[in-house]
Amino acid sequence: MEKLKERIQQIKKKRPGYGEILNFYQKVREAQDKTKASLNIKPIQLRKEWKELLTKEGFSLIQKEDFPLDIEASTALFTTLCQIAKEANPHMAEKVERINEAIAHQRIDLKKLLMGGVKEQKIERVADEFGLDAKVFLFLIQSCTRPSIESGMEQLRSQLDPEIWLKGYCPMCGSLPSLSLLKGEEGKRYLICSYCDYQWRTDRLVCPFCNNKDQQFLQYFCGEGEEAYRIDLCDKCHQYIKTIDLRTIGETDPLLEDLATLHLDILASQKGYKRPIPNPLTT
Ligand SMILES: [Zn+2]
Ligand SMILES: [Zn+2]
Repeated sequence: MEKLKERIQQIKKKRPGYGEILNFYQKVREAQDKTKASLNIKPIQLRKEWKELLTKEGFSLIQKEDFPLDIEASTALFTTLCQIAKEANPHMAEKVERINEAIAHQRIDLKKLLMGGVKEQKIERVADEFGLDAKVFLFLIQSCTRPSIESGMEQLRSQLDPEIWLKGYCPMCGSLPSLSLLKGEEGKRYLICSYCDYQWRTDRLVCPFCNNKDQQFLQYFCGEGEEAYRIDLCDKCHQYIKTIDLRTIGETDPLLEDLATLHLDILASQKGYKRPIPNPLTT
């Protein structure tokens, strides 16, 4: 956490425009860290056939819903995150207020909603039904369950070899990557799961979303003086992923670096490319 705060200070000095969103991010991360320290997570029971299906059929080890959640801790964190969001800006405060009201009047049973796992479509349906902002509601749900999901991922980490999977979706839970990283002397490329945070190796030149390896249809750009951040564009599916070169900036929090380079996402969008999994704080 201290390192994260330091890095946030560094970035804020360089790019003051990001101050507000980075302060918000820091508060969310602090609250999540606190929750993670006292979680009560059931051990995940892996079935033997799951591992066989992974090797033979390329199925992920588990499904998103299989991550056990500490419901008590998640709902407590939900309340804390609502408070942080309300203090962040008036626009957000209004949306969070409506969500709180729906929960307070027991029109939404948050615990029950979480018991089935984090299902995006279901959460969006509930938001629609009660006239809530679906993106903000989803952000709060995803953020309050993240400590549980990360703990589950850490529990299962030793079951997988991150170097051999090479596919465009997470071997742990089957979700799409949010970011890619270049690491080590040779700059090996890794993808980060948008759901469970697991990292796995991939080819240097491939679009993770459509598996395009044809170099004629792959290009990238960096911001001026920002060679550590690259936008990898695919001209087959017209989508992109942001790549962070850790060889230049050292170990850091990828989500933070992503948030601090949103101007590159704006550029990519202006060029007509879509990002399948945007940073959760930008929704
Ligand atoms: Zn995953
Ligand atoms: Zn593609």
